[in-house]
This record gives sequence, structure tokens and C-alpha cells, in this order.
Amino acid sequence: MAATATERKLLIGGEWVETGDWREVRSPYSNDVVGHVATAGAKEAKLSIAAAERAMRAPLPAHKRAEILVKVAGLLGRRHDEIARVISEEAGKPLKQAKVEVSRAMSTYTFAAVEARKLAGEMVPMDASQAGEGKLAFTLLQPVGIVGAISPFNFPLNLVAHKLAPSLAAGCAVVLKPASQTPLSALLLAELETEAGLPPGWLNVIVGPASEIGDVLVEDDRVKAISFTGSSDVGWRLRERAPRKKVLLELGNSTPVIVQGDADLDVAVEKLAVNSFSFAGQSCISTQRIYLQKWIADDFMSRFIPKVEELVVGDPTEEATDVGPVVDDGARERIIEWIDEATKEGATILTGGSVLEGRLIRPTVLGNVDLGMKVCREEVFGPVVTVDSYETLDDAILLANGTRYGLQAGIFTDSLPSALRAAQRLRFGGVTVNEAPTFRADQMPYGGVKDSGNTREGPAYTVRELSEERVVVVDF
Ligand code: NAP
Repeated sequence: MAATATERKLLIGGEWVETGDWREVRSPYSNDVVGHVATAGAKEAKLSIAAAERAMRAPLPAHKRAEILVKVAGLLGRRHDEIARVISEEAGKPLKQAKVEVSRAMSTYTFAAVEARKLAGEMVPMDASQAGEGKLAFTLLQPVGIVGAISPFNFPLNLVAHKLAPSLAAGCAVVLKPASQTPLSALLLAELETEAGLPPGWLNVIVGPASEIGDVLVEDDRVKAISFTGSSDVGWRLRERAPRKKVLLELGNSTPVIVQGDADLDVAVEKLAVNSFSFAGQSCISTQRIYLQKWIADDFMSRFIPKVEELVVGDPTEEATDVGPVVDDGARERIIEWIDEATKEGATILTGGSVLEGRLIRPTVLGNVDLGMKVCREEVFGPVVTVDSYETLDDAILLANGTRYGLQAGIFTDSLPSALRAAQRLRFGGVTVNEAPTFRADQMPYGGVKDSGNTREGPAYTVRELSEERVVVVDF
């Protein structure tokens, strides 16, 4: 039976399944019910793994996998604005950013289709050693096995796409547990995959209590890889509990950016004002710490604050909105608490610092900060940036590197040597130059070091992570 827009069943073994237990999905902005989803538990998780195992007994050829992936990209395009609305409603993401997310998911599927067609091992030069003389050897890339995928609320479509599309490209069946706040986009994507011709069992989507489903994925030996995107503490705990599985972690950050005295300030101000607050700072690479070279700090701030104050804060389903709500009351209270704590420790509120209404927090800029404060040291995941100044580039790099995170960082400068020095010394998975560190294109190798993760996403990279190399030796 086809799923409907507001009432979504679970996908298990190619069937849309009811469990008799429904949960509401509510808009973070209005608190209106925007959907109902069937709720799964350990039983459905086990059924899903069994369905995935059955599916993988009949491998799909690469051309078929690629064909399905391309079709999904097309279907996303055909229903682009409708899907953007679903994202906006369930995540509270401003519509214009939700539209970008749908376009990016199309891109993710398109790149995964390319990878499916070119996935191949390599020849081993056997006569390069005495032992190999008279032998021919090559490697085959085999799918690692069933992937247990766990995704966060903040990119409910494209971060699910980054799990589903490369898994299929690599020939792996998936059991997906999307975030409880945002299951509708994931289930809609599952509907598109089935419409594109995905045979039963290759994708199973279950929504329900995180630890119950997580426990099954961790404990079941048939699940060979766990692909997790979410907060650092949850991610690393999962990895500790699954030492025999591949556990791919895409985690949080406290994103720094350095603005050198020789930078084009108009460009830096424009990019940072927007990228520090889009989706209310709820992106893993939302700019959080701005470091300004001392002698341009006043000039930068006199242009930056008015730009921040121009941002339209409000209803995410309105086309004009730049900054929507944070995801729930708990997030709002935590963020306000962190701001208050910082001000008690000496920080100054340069703009914002309070709740506008409901879960809307005014875009907030804090000065007089130091790395000991939570707003710098930890991931705020809210519309808050801190600003500090420095004397030399090496001082700035030290500050930028001064947290447990290492996902992405940025530098604005007109000097090539400064840019290259920063690129070499910033201990992050990615460094942007003259671009906000919030930038990501979906084909990039994207992921963190330190507490921010242990893998790289981007279809070409994920497909490799989800493949096992098997060497074949032929005596001739
Ligand atoms: P989260 O609370 O860690 O949740 C992420 C996912 O993990 C959700 O599906 C959640 O399920 C599930 N989960 C929670 N506890 C679990 C457990 N014990 N066992 C198994 N699964 C569990 O993170 P979030 O608030 O949704 O997302 C924000 C975080 O994600 C931020 O830290 C952000 O930086 C990070 N993030 C990283 C990237 C990246 O690519 N590096 C991208 C986006 C976001 P429920 O929803 O049911 O609780």
C-alpha cells in the first residue's frame, strides 16, 4: 500500500508496515502536527535486518544500482518544492534553505550513480617481487554487508541521502533509523527509492526509540557497518560498543574562522553574517567562532552587526525567512543557558542574546569571550557566534585548534602563503579559503578529525568505506 503524505508507515522488506503505534511529528515552529509515523521497536529492527539479509543474497548488478540512483535524482527533481516543504515543516528549516537541501540530495544521488558504475578494484603488479613471479593478481571490491544507518534531524533529506545512495552504489542493503523529529523526509525518500525500482529489502526504514533500535543494530552480527551522523558523545559510544563493525562517524564541531587583516572585508562580512545563522546555527559546520586580526576588528564588527540584525527571523515556511526556530524547547533552554553562563563569565552581548518568541532565538553575537566558555569550547548548535581578536596568524591558528573538534575551519585572506599556512596547520577535516567554513558540496570528502569523526562522506569516499577489498591470485 502506498504511504500518504501525512501518515507514514515503515518500510520493511518492501512492505509499508503499520505497528498499531503511531507517533506525532510536530513543527518546531508552530507545534502543529505535520505528520503521523508508525513506531517501531526491537522487533521491527530485527525484521528489517532479516529482510536486508535476504535482499543481499541476490546482488544487484552495478548498472541496475546506477539506474535506480539516477531515477531517484529525477524523482527528487520532479517533486522538489513539495519535498522542500516537508523538510521545512518537520525540521523548522527556512524554505529557501530546504530547497537547497533538495537540490543537494539530487546531486548526492547523481554522484552515487557515477560511483556505482565505476566501482572497481585494481591490478597488483605481481612480478614486482620474486614471490609473485608467474602470477597475476587483482582486487575485487565487495560490499561490506548490511549497513545500519542513523541520521540526525538537521538535514533530514540530504544526510539520509548521503547514507542511502552510496550504500546502494556499493551494493549494500540498509536499515535506516532517521531522527525521531524528522522521519517524514526519510520515509518520502524511501518511497522514491521504491518507485525508482529498488527491490524489496534493500532499504528498510524504521522510526522509534533510539537506544532500542540502536542496540539491535549494534548487537546483531549481520549488520557489518554502522553509519552514524549526529552528536559526538552518542557517536563515540556507539563505536566503543561495536568493535568488530565498521563504525563511520560524522559528528559535531565548534567551527572557527580566521579573518586576516588583508582579507576582503565586504566578502567576509557578507558570507559570515549569513552562514553563522542559517538554519538557526543548527548545522554541524555553522560558523561559531570568528577570530579577527586586531587592527581590522572594529571595522569588521561595524559592518557585521548591522548585517546580522538585517536577517529575517520568523516562520520557516515563509520564503523571506533567514533564521527559523531551534528544534525544541530543550535546545532553546540550553542555548539561552549557555549565553547566560558566558555573560556571567565576562562575555558581552553585541546583539541578540534572547528569545524573540517560542523557539526563535535572536541571532546572537558575543564578544569578550575565551576558549574556556562553553559557547566557544562546545558545539552551540544554535544562532550564536563568538568574536575574538588576535595578533598573528599563528595565534589565530592556536585558538582555532583549541577545542576537541576538527570538522571544518576557514580563513579569509588575500595572502596565498597565509592561506596555505592555515591549510597546513588547522587540524580539521576541511579548510575553506575565502569561503565560510559552512560550505559543503556533496562530492567533497567531508568529515572530521579529533572528536568530530573518523570517516569521509561524499559518495566516492563512502562507497570505498562500504566496500571490502578481496585479492584474487591466479597462477598461470
Ligand atoms: P543526536 O541527538 O546525536 O541524534 C542523531 C541520531 O542518533 C538520531 O537519529 C537519534 O535518534 C540517534 N540516537 C540518539 N541516541 C542514540 C543511541 N543511544 N543509539 C543509537 N542512536 C541514537 O544528534 P542530532 O541532535 O539529531 O543532530 C545534531 C548533531 O549532529 C550535532 O552534533 C551536529 O554537529 C551533528 N551533525 C554532524 C554532521 C556531520 O556530517 N559531521 C552533519 C549533521 C549533524 P532520535 O532522534 O530518535 O533521538
